[in-house]
Amino acid sequence: MTPLACCGNRERAGKGGIWMTTEATAGGKLRGRRAVITGGASGIGLAIAMAFAREGAPVDILDLNEAGAQAAVKAIQSAGGVAEMHACDVSDAASVRATFDGIFARGPVRILVNNAGVAHVGTVASTNEDDFDRLMRINVRSVYLCTRAVVERMKAEDGGVILNMASIAAIAGLPDRFAYSTTKGAVLAMTFQVARDYLNDRIRCNAISPARVHTPFVDGFVAKNYPGREKEMMEVLGRAQPIGRMAEPEEVANLAVWLCSDEASFITGQNYPLDGGYMNLRG
Ligand code: NAD
Repeated sequence: MTPLACCGNRERAGKGGIWMTTEATAGGKLRGRRAVITGGASGIGLAIAMAFAREGAPVDILDLNEAGAQAAVKAIQSAGGVAEMHACDVSDAASVRATFDGIFARGPVRILVNNAGVAHVGTVASTNEDDFDRLMRINVRSVYLCTRAVVERMKAEDGGVILNMASIAAIAGLPDRFAYSTTKGAVLAMTFQVARDYLNDRIRCNAISPARVHTPFVDGFVAKNYPGREKEMMEVLGRAQPIGRMAEPEEVANLAVWLCSDEASFITGQNYPLDGGYMNLRG
């Protein structure tokens, strides 16, 4: 498949190197565009992998959770999609390098979704150094490593899209989220930086900042930090969004599909809160 065929018929809009669609993409918004999704075995990443495959993207799932990633691949294949899993610690440089070398050996990558991440509860005083470093490694270093692994190769081919999973914690000042918020602030900064540096290389880079999304991440977080108060805390977490509930992973996936498709061809260097009104409607 030629790069042009892969990305549909497009023409340059101005001299900036941003591309526009001139013909509707038949058979799915992401048809034929290979997408790598980190943390695709669970929660938001799993919903994105399923949605991308439904839209015609061959999907590569990178995750530490091999059993979960295998189940995700099976589910995608049963629904008629194309998917592979790669056991990869996205915070480890050697693991990331080897995994992406293998993926690129089989063809170009058009989309990278940096989604893998972990949570942590604590103030600056109660966050120990090990936890701070762990969060920085998994939530920040992974985005750097995976983006570095694709961006020059995307540039050499026909461009692409990078989508980072940030959080409202990056901008909202949530209580007790010192390390987590710090890492998500860095994810936003990396989003803007990559978008700027590759503005003329047909690479778009954006972020989604969800409020609470009901995933195993939230279930695990509540079980670990509020043992015995799980039901009460789930209700509290739902009510924190003015809309009165948590988001579903599929609602994040819908936005991810759109941002990675040609329908969003003029959008780069942006952060999209997906927050049930959290940022603007709490008054
Ligand atoms: P989840 O725990 O359900 O899934 C995260 C996945 O990442 C898991 O499959 C896990 O195995 C994988 N992972 C973790 N560390 C990894 C590593 N080093 N290498 C490879 N894979 C690794 O979480 P989720 O709720 O779907 O969250 C996904 C992303 O969305 C995270 O970045 C999170 O910070 C962000 N986010 C979540 C919420 C929420 O409320 N759920 C809100 C805002 C932002």
